[in-house]
Amino acid sequence: MDKERKLIIAGNWKMNKTVAEALDLVNGLKLELGKVKDVDIVVCPPFTALGEVSKAILSARNLALGAQNMSEHKPGAYTGEIAAQMLKEFSVRYVILGHSERRIYQLESDELISKKAQAAHAAALKPIVCVGETLTEREAGQMEKVLETQVRGSLAALTKDQMVETVVAYEPVWAIGTGKTATAQQAQDAHAFIRAQLAKIFDEAVARKVRIQYGGSVKPANARELMSLPDVDGALVGGAALEVRSFADIVKNSI
Ligand code: PEP
Repeated sequence: MDKERKLIIAGNWKMNKTVAEALDLVNGLKLELGKVKDVDIVVCPPFTALGEVSKAILSARNLALGAQNMSEHKPGAYTGEIAAQMLKEFSVRYVILGHSERRIYQLESDELISKKAQAAHAAALKPIVCVGETLTEREAGQMEKVLETQVRGSLAALTKDQMVETVVAYEPVWAIGTGKTATAQQAQDAHAFIRAQLAKIFDEAVARKVRIQYGGSVKPANARELMSLPDVDGALVGGAALEVRSFADIVKNSI
């Protein structure tokens, strides 16, 4: 597939996998995906498995490590939080920010996500910033308004250079973990809309460079069609990232 932007496929393991299970998964992925080129593959285990998974992928040049969240603060008195600097210790390169589960359960706001994105860049981590509308919002015709607010609120404070190094994940909330995937047209329209917002906030050149992932029930069977869309530059995968076979097939079917 010939695209201006390099595909990035990330697996969000969420609150799953003991250290032993995480190692099984990542070692399986190393075997399956060791020879795959021209796509950035990112695994995002829970914090507790970052250290061991980091060691396991030292010899895998095409696998990068991501975290699922981080604090907006520098190290200090913030019980239960993890700072960007601590992630760097494990050679983490990406961090998912503003996942809809955190927006819903931890009430994370665009303002907070913006602070986290700035803190990530200050530590040379690449944020994967999630945006997406709920079913109620889509049915009320508010998708564009929601995306515009989230994109502006969580990304506008970045510099142009930081924005280019940021990944945006369009994840319609109604498609996450539900088995319902956006149609190709719905995904392309939303991605094109997000890119147009980035052009408004930054400029056309920045918008052309930013990678926008689709997330929401991506499976081996729908990966090829989704990844072939002009404004879809990768996938953020939840459920199907928990098994070697399904995640490896998503990657292979995408290229
Ligand atoms: C996610 O939670 O980011 C996600 C896309 O989940 P799933 O693939 O299971 O829908």
